[in-house]
Amino acid sequence: MDLAQLDTGLPLTRQRTLHLYQGIRALMPPAQPARTQPIARLTDHLDEFDGLILDGYGVINIGAELVPGIDRFLEAVADRGLALAVLTNGASFPVSMAAEKYQKWGLPIAPEAVVSSREALQRRLYANPPGQKIVTLDRASQPLSPPASAGFTELRARSTAELAACLEQADAAVMLGAISWSEDDFEILAAAMRARPRPFWIANPDVSAPQPDGFSAEPGYWAIRLMQETGIKPDFLGKPYAPAFELGFEALQKQAGRALDRRRVAMVGDSLHTDILGGSAFGLQTVLLSGYGLLAGLDAGEVIAETGIAPDWLAAEL
Ligand SMILES: [Mg+2]
Repeated sequence: MDLAQLDTGLPLTRQRTLHLYQGIRALMPPAQPARTQPIARLTDHLDEFDGLILDGYGVINIGAELVPGIDRFLEAVADRGLALAVLTNGASFPVSMAAEKYQKWGLPIAPEAVVSSREALQRRLYANPPGQKIVTLDRASQPLSPPASAGFTELRARSTAELAACLEQADAAVMLGAISWSEDDFEILAAAMRARPRPFWIANPDVSAPQPDGFSAEPGYWAIRLMQETGIKPDFLGKPYAPAFELGFEALQKQAGRALDRRRVAMVGDSLHTDILGGSAFGLQTVLLSGYGLLAGLDAGEVIAETGIAPDWLAAEL
């Protein structure tokens, strides 16, 4: 892996996003072999599963729009008594916000079945030795506001100017989101990390997110930039990494009210490098939804061949 060779120029595109994911494959779980079965509609194959873990963005909704067929699909899932959970990498806000959004849309998704990389990060921080000062980067992300029992103090910069002072005191840095994160913020972070290397946790490993006007740079992108500039390897919590799947699978089994066989559970997502790679490494079946989200407009078969990340199922629609 030669990070210096990676083109981290902005703005991000679909192709550049895939290039960056491919560039850090050595950090990701290894791909598992699969014989991909192309199907038209996932709804017609629900007998194959006892439970499903859905990605949020790109499977349930894209921004303010629901993915076509999601209501009908969720009805069929409920009719068959399949357990259902949602596992999202979004970490800027508490997961209850996503759960409320699904309720508002009238989708039959239990609020406690929705989990995110933010909670995977919280779980990790709560397991740290007590007394640490943790700076949560990105001012637009909601603070973690840990209770006293969490054993760590959260530092927050209210401006780019305050960031250096926060980093000066911090034992570790965590990145929840990148909504307000800027090139100036990044330079301050890189300088502080070079001066005194410290643990750096990334809740959301996504490189980019599709937006109406292009692709936003997400924490996974900034993690690559920091690795390029300082050599510090962050710890990633969200998909494709195991902590997120442990949380998602726990939530799913709670919904089912029983232990589930991982081979009878599928991760359904629109991203090969997060949903599919991580789901199969965790021992789940995987369903790549090709018609929407990250791969929309690309030849999914070609991307699968190029990356060597193969889902068990390739579904054109829900
Ligand atoms: Mg997605």
